[in-house]
Amino acid sequence: MKIVLASSNAGKIKELNDMLAELDMQIIPQQELGIEDVEETGLCFVENAILKARNAALMSGMPAIADDSGLEVDFLNGAPGIYSARFAGPDANTASNNKKLLDALGDAPLEQRSARYQCVIVYMRHATDPTPIICQGSWEGHIALEAKGDGGFGYDPLFYVEDVNCHAAEIDKEDKNQISHRGIAIRELLAKLGNHLTDSLTDSTATTGQST
Ligand code: IMP
Repeated sequence: MKIVLASSNAGKIKELNDMLAELDMQIIPQQELGIEDVEETGLCFVENAILKARNAALMSGMPAIADDSGLEVDFLNGAPGIYSARFAGPDANTASNNKKLLDALGDAPLEQRSARYQCVIVYMRHATDPTPIICQGSWEGHIALEAKGDGGFGYDPLFYVEDVNCHAAEIDKEDKNQISHRGIAIRELLAKLGNHLTDSLTDSTATTGQST
């Protein structure tokens, strides 16, 4: 079985691919099928993840998985939130987003810089799936006063995690996948997808009277 991955963010594709490796399925990034990013017009992570998954399923005719994620900073009333990828404007990149974040927080002390990553993952069997599987994970931290580390992607060099006393960009990828917002959401998806696939197999066995 093939599943299309509705993302063209290289950092996310890598993390998702690593974590989905245990599924006995071929995960195909939408770019490989010539599918472009859909406009993210939703006002929350769930809406945007559904828009992305629905578009990828529609364009490919395959089941689709999409991730919508971002950073919520309490000092900024939850910004950048769903606008994390384009915080510094339409031509934003990692450097300009991170600079804007540091500028916005100024010299606020660490205890006022609490933040969390949020991730919503959606699985749709087809473009008109009325019951998408929706999974969510979050990861608590603080926005540091300066960047550290060269792993991960996006805001990771600025995201300080008390539990492990380092920045997300200093954590190796397997460890990040164990504790991150995306790791939590993906494990929930794997559990739900396992049941879902088992249910589909049971249904087809009941219909055909044959086991597979
Ligand atoms: P999306 O592609 O619209 O979901 O945007 C997600 C954005 O949130 C990314 O481009 C990053 O800026 C940020 N983000 C989400 N997850 C992470 C992460 O694990 N590390 C660093 N930044 C992240």
